[in-house]
Order: sequence, then structure tokens, then C-alpha cells
Amino acid sequence: MDFTLSEEQLMIQKAARDFAQNELLPGVIERDDAQKFPAEQVKKMSELGFMGMMVDPKYGGSGLDTISYALVMEELSKVDASASVIVSVNNSLVCWGLETFGSEAQKEKYLTRLSTGQCIGAFCLSEPEAGSDATSQKTTAADHGDHYIVNGTKNWITNGNSAEIYLVIAQTDISKGHKGINALIVEKGMPGFEIGPKENKLGIRGSDTHSLIFNDVKVPKENRIGEDGFGFKFAMKTLAGGRIGIAAQALGIAAGAYELAKKYSKERKAFGTEISNHQAIAFKLADMHTQIEAARHMVYKAAWDKDQGNNYDLSSAMAKLYASQVAMDTTIEAVQIHGGNGFVKDYHVERMMRDAKITQIYEGTSEIQKIVISRSILRE
Ligand SMILES: Cc1cc2nc3c(=O)[nH]c(=O)nc-3n(C[C@H](O)[C@H](O)[C@H](O)COP(=O)(O)OP(=O)(O)OC[C@H]3O[C@@H](n4cnc5c(N)ncnc54)[C@H](O)[C@@H]3O)c2cc1C
Repeated sequence: MDFTLSEEQLMIQKAARDFAQNELLPGVIERDDAQKFPAEQVKKMSELGFMGMMVDPKYGGSGLDTISYALVMEELSKVDASASVIVSVNNSLVCWGLETFGSEAQKEKYLTRLSTGQCIGAFCLSEPEAGSDATSQKTTAADHGDHYIVNGTKNWITNGNSAEIYLVIAQTDISKGHKGINALIVEKGMPGFEIGPKENKLGIRGSDTHSLIFNDVKVPKENRIGEDGFGFKFAMKTLAGGRIGIAAQALGIAAGAYELAKKYSKERKAFGTEISNHQAIAFKLADMHTQIEAARHMVYKAAWDKDQGNNYDLSSAMAKLYASQVAMDTTIEAVQIHGGNGFVKDYHVERMMRDAKITQIYEGTSEIQKIVISRSILRE
């Protein structure tokens, strides 16, 4: 078993680390405060090839493996999880979904623009009454021969306003249940497609999360991804890979908070010595380090499974479940190690604690991951 990263992977990891320190760290507190989308930073990430990391170079992508993608997600998330979720959605949900299941014409028309960062994408599954229970889609895509007419509302859509290309899941034939669902490519500006209000969030406040409203939106049939009725399968398959991105995001948040807490514990003195010399603090750091390392192995294993062509439904669900718990636990302890300073914005860890929470909710809550895991192990 070889745990060594390749030269290329190490290079990409360093590029992401440098970028995070030089370009994301300045202004991260202000962007969080003002809920400001990191538009300039996204532009620079496109130039570095981070917006279409796994896409074939013939469609403008970087042609990298999933491990490289996880490394980049980890490094970006150590500093700014708002920026990393934009990368995650564009890479693992939008680009991957289009490249894997889209037609050649769809790839030519949309994928190159997305993978080069000329525009960004959004993945639109959740609705007011369809979150964990994604089969309960109320958004409809009525079949009108050569086009669909889409009506309904989507909730909580990451990149909701900043995207230009939206992959929208909608019900075409309710009598067929989840086999009557389709995935359609919708473009910003199509008549009847409106962006709803921006959510005022606890964490990842730099990312723009919106509801979307569809009023008789005419979508040509050539914009359907896959065969008629493939939409639900499309969403589930895409989300399985997306979970690797979010697990890597959780890992990065945890690792970033741990690094800050370790540094602080060696500087801050109490009772005549650095607080790291108090065993209660040293043991917290030991637990954090151990759990982060375990999470890292699970994330890399899931990424490796995907790269090997193995089934990664189970490993990605386990990685997300575990890494998101580690992110939550670690950031809470990082705040504790910082004492009063942990409770104010300047020290970053309070933001990381707020950002960590979303990793237990989106792309399948922790409870839903346990459903995926238990079904998988009980089938064996
Ligand atoms: C910031 C943010 C960004 C998001 N981005 C996107 C996006 O880009 N695209 C998109 O489509 N969606 C997005 N989402 C939506 C997200 O995926 C959902 O919020 C999530 O899947 C949970 O759905 P829900 O909010 O409807 O909660 P519910 O499904 O109502 O769940 C409520 C609670 O019940 C639990 N629960 C539900 N069913 C079960 C069960 N069978 N067994 C045990 N427990 C259960 C859940 O785990 C949870 O704890 C985003 C959400 C947020 C907050």
C-alpha cells in the first residue's frame, strides 16, 4: 500500500495552499461579514484550473484525478469554505455530471465554458418540500414534444445568483415516481426563470444561496441529460461524487482550525507557561490530530475508489459522515483553545465553527449518510 502523493499531486496541493494563503485569507473575515461572493478569487481559481479540475482537457479541463481535486478542496477549505463550496459544486456536481452523462453537443455548448470558469454552474435538486426526500419533487417539466415547460421552486441553491448554467431536476411523469424525473440544463435569462432572495446564513456566508423560481420556462428537449426518466439516477450518482468534495471540505475546515489552535496554544501563556504545556490542551490537540488524520484517510480512500473505477457510494458516504463530524468537533475545540479570543472574528476559528456545520447538512445530511451506509452494509 502506497500512501505517497505523486509529484504532480504535491505540486497541485502547494498551488492551492499558496493561493489560499495569498488570495483567500486577505478579506475572508470581511467577505463573511458582508456575505460577499468572492468573484475576484473565483476568477483567479479559474486561471489556476480549479473550476474544471477533473474534466478532460479537450473540454477545457485540467484532466486531474479525484485525489488532486480532494487535495485542492482541503487546502482551500483550510482558509475559506465559502470559496471551496463554489469549487465543489462546479467541479463535482455540474462539470462531472455533464461530462459523464451529457451528450456531445451539451458538452461542447456548456462544459468548456464551465470548466474554464467563463461561467459557473449550479445544481438544483432541493425544494421547499423535497430535501432529504428528494423523490418528492414538486417542480414539473411537462413534455411538449420538442421542449419541456418547467414550473416550480428550488431552494437553497449554491451559486444561485452567480451561476449562468443550472442543472435542474424536475418531475415529468408523476405516475412513474422517481423514474419519471428528468435533469434539464437551464440557462440564466430563459424567460420565466427568476432568481429568488438570497439566504442570510450561519456559515459559508461568502457563497450565494438562493431560491429559484420557474414560471413556464421553455427548455428545449436537447437540454435533457440522458434518457427520459434518468433525472433521479443522475442526481444520486452525481451526489455520490459530490460527497467526496464536501468530505474534503470538512477535512480542510478541521485541519485549518487545528493548525490555528496548535499555533495559538504554543504562544498563549497561562499559569506561567504556554497553554500547550497543560495536558488538558495537549490532549485536545492529540485528539484533533488523530481524528483529522483518520478523516483524511477516508477522504483519500473515497477519491481513490472513484479514480480506480470502484463503486464509491459507501466510501464517499462514510467519508462525508465522519469528516463532517470531525470538522464540527475540531472547530468547537479550536474555539475553546482560543478562549475569549476564539469567540471573536479576528482569530478565524469562530467562522470555521459556523462553516463546519453545513458539512453535516448539504449533499445529504448525516442521518441520510447513515441510511446510505446501513443499506450498503446490510446488502452485503
Ligand atoms: C447553505 C446550503 C447550501 C445548499 N446548496 C444546495 C444546492 O446547491 N443544491 C441543492 O439541491 N440543495 C442544496 N442545499 C439543500 C440541502 O441539500 C438540504 O438542505 C438537505 O439535503 C436537507 O434537506 P432539508 O433542508 O429539506 O431537511 P429535511 O429533509 O427536512 O430534514 C430535516 C431533518 O430530518 C432528518 N431526516 C429527514 N429524513 C430522515 C430519515 N428518513 N431518517 C432520519 N432522519 C431524517 C434530516 O437528517 C434533518 O436532520 C443547500 C442547503 C444549504 C443550507
